[in-house]
Amino acid sequence: MKSILTDRPALRADVEKVAEVAGYLWQKGWAERNGGNITVNVTAWIDEELRSLPPISGPKPIGQKLPHLAGCWFYCKGTQKRMRDLARDPMGNGSIIRITDDCAHYEIVADQLVAPTSELPSHLAVHDYLLAKGSPYRASLHTHPIELVALTHSKKWLAKDAATKMLWSMIPETKAFCPRGLGIVPYMMPSSQELAEATIRTINQDYDVVMWEKHGVFAVDTDIMSAFDQVDVLNKAAQIYIASRNMGFEPEGMTDAQMRQLSKAFGLPK
Ligand SMILES: [Zn+2]
Repeated sequence: MKSILTDRPALRADVEKVAEVAGYLWQKGWAERNGGNITVNVTAWIDEELRSLPPISGPKPIGQKLPHLAGCWFYCKGTQKRMRDLARDPMGNGSIIRITDDCAHYEIVADQLVAPTSELPSHLAVHDYLLAKGSPYRASLHTHPIELVALTHSKKWLAKDAATKMLWSMIPETKAFCPRGLGIVPYMMPSSQELAEATIRTINQDYDVVMWEKHGVFAVDTDIMSAFDQVDVLNKAAQIYIASRNMGFEPEGMTDAQMRQLSKAFGLPK
């Protein structure tokens, strides 16, 4: 069967990057069953021929009007689909959608009729916010990194920037490669509008990675690999913290002076 990715190397590369990341999420144990979501704005790779293709679904309501998504196209994981399956077959476990002119509906333009994740409205709301702000970020990731989720079961790490400071202090690369730290959103019902709004508010407070208490992370970046990398370095730092605790001591952490020196040397935002 001819795929809409055929003869579109840039679009194919972006979708294959999603598949690669989905494989990592599974290997890391962060994507049990159908856990996690990925949505990537692929508008830059959509040509005129693709724009003129008829959709394979009727228009479906997003549930809200997102004015900055006019003319936008997204790759998104399918509802009830597994990351480990998406890793092998991204077009069988995800779909490409376009936002209709009223900015309140989407249509599927893909190889197979794969309905997008139920989390689509919240992911699209974040993309709408990013575009409104003029952000270059085009990818959003939700996943369940074990050690980071474990941290949120203690009130100690839910105070603003308490976890950020500890994680940054475990190994210099954490601050260098996740320079805005870890925003915290208190527990809210999964998939709720309330959670989507709190996530956007927290990203707006200058975070790229937001922790949902006792649930998982939501990360945004220029592409899906970079969003994954930010979560990966944070979770690595959490693992180092736990390894120290398992050796029977509280890790010292880098000093405030060492962290300031790092920010200066790398020109970091915080
Ligand atoms: Zn989740």
